[in-house]
Amino acid sequence: MALIVQKYGGTSVGTTERIRKVADNIAKFTKQGHQLIVAVSAQSGTTDNLIKLAGEVNDNPSGREMDMLLSTGEQITIALLAMALDKIGVPAISLTGPQMGILTDNAHTKARILSIDHSRIKKELNAGKVIIVAGFQGISEENEITTLGRGGSDTTAVAIAASIKADLCEIYTDVDGVYTADPRIVKNPSKLNVITYDEMLELASLGAKVLHPRSVEVAKIHNVPLSVRSSFETEKEGTFVVNKEGLEKNLVVTGVASDKNTAKIGIFDVPDTPGIAAKIFERLGQANVNVDMIIQSATRNKKVNDISFTVPKNDLYHAVDVIDSLQEEMGFGEVVCADDVAKISIVGAGMVSSPGVAAKMFTTLSNEGINIEMISTSEIKVSCVIKNYGDNVNKAVCSLHDAFDLDKIGK
Ligand code: ADP
Ligand code: ASP
Ligand code: MG
Repeated sequence: MALIVQKYGGTSVGTTERIRKVADNIAKFTKQGHQLIVAVSAQSGTTDNLIKLAGEVNDNPSGREMDMLLSTGEQITIALLAMALDKIGVPAISLTGPQMGILTDNAHTKARILSIDHSRIKKELNAGKVIIVAGFQGISEENEITTLGRGGSDTTAVAIAASIKADLCEIYTDVDGVYTADPRIVKNPSKLNVITYDEMLELASLGAKVLHPRSVEVAKIHNVPLSVRSSFETEKEGTFVVNKEGLEKNLVVTGVASDKNTAKIGIFDVPDTPGIAAKIFERLGQANVNVDMIIQSATRNKKVNDISFTVPKNDLYHAVDVIDSLQEEMGFGEVVCADDVAKISIVGAGMVSSPGVAAKMFTTLSNEGINIEMISTSEIKVSCVIKNYGDNVNKAVCSLHDAFDLDKIGK
């Protein structure tokens, strides 16, 4: 008997028929004697609709009220799935995040899980019930409902699995695993049987939305046995996300990802004195803005330099406000921003020992007539900021996928 955490995404529970299919899959596991905790998303389109509704009554709603609204989507799914299980004779109980004891910080709309109370979990599992928990939500110490950010149900599932030391965490979605690129963009991507936590973390953070980046972060820290598989073809093996050990060899490039939810900010003529960059990024951090790809130019006239960086698109105006508020005190020059950009990245654990990978990426983009605006590298990734217009981004993804022969992986 194993303790298994499963998560079903929005498309997987998108219709009542799909919910019945999910119930059948859960029943298959309980019949084998396994204990199950199942996290679910809102039905596909529900969260988007709720956001649209909010916008119709207020173009700048508070985070608290947004969370109150958005958390309702998942609540519909948990009740319907528990009813569907009851109908086929599987004892189950639905619980909201707060009922489940998922304590978060108070960063509304992007809260982080602090702890999970086990008392209710133990009680329900000991009573022989499948626990159906609402993904993406929790409760703060101030007793307020919070949500974890778009796509956050994956993180709910992995955090529960880590906290109760589950034997396995399965993420059921509308693809049968992790591919070398988004199958909606590339015609011939290869399915990866295994991928390391590090590579998956980069891919997810750089735009491959198949897993929420923070779910991979939690899985890596706590060594959670994690798999991504199809809710439509449940018999198919998915992709296992694993530690480095046991993998025979690292691929030079494992995948390509793109992220259109990005914007760039440039600060000109920043005085070249110690502590200025620290202060700018400290303030942005305090304002809860996630900064990425920081680039500082060489000093001009021994006095000033320019700093540019990227932020998520929806944080852009907030970030610019924070920087504007520092302008007088710090004496830097003009602040410019652009949101018509995208980030395109290649990821691979073998990159570190293969010279020429970045050069090949730049050549490929230039052959497509795509201009590179910013570059950042780490041991296992190279990212470029490019313009997001027409089919520029998809063209970049497909040409890089071809250039690195990713259609041939495992074939
Ligand atoms: P869910 O609603 O189940 O959470 P998501 O839409 O969040 O599903 O994530 C699944 C989607 O992720 C797929 O439909 C696919 O288009 C996209 N995706 C992006 N990059 C990849 C990749 N490298 N491998 C697999 N899927 C990917
Ligand atoms: N329902 C939320 C969203 O659409 C959370 C999730 O699906 O993971 O982002
Ligand atoms: Mg998702």
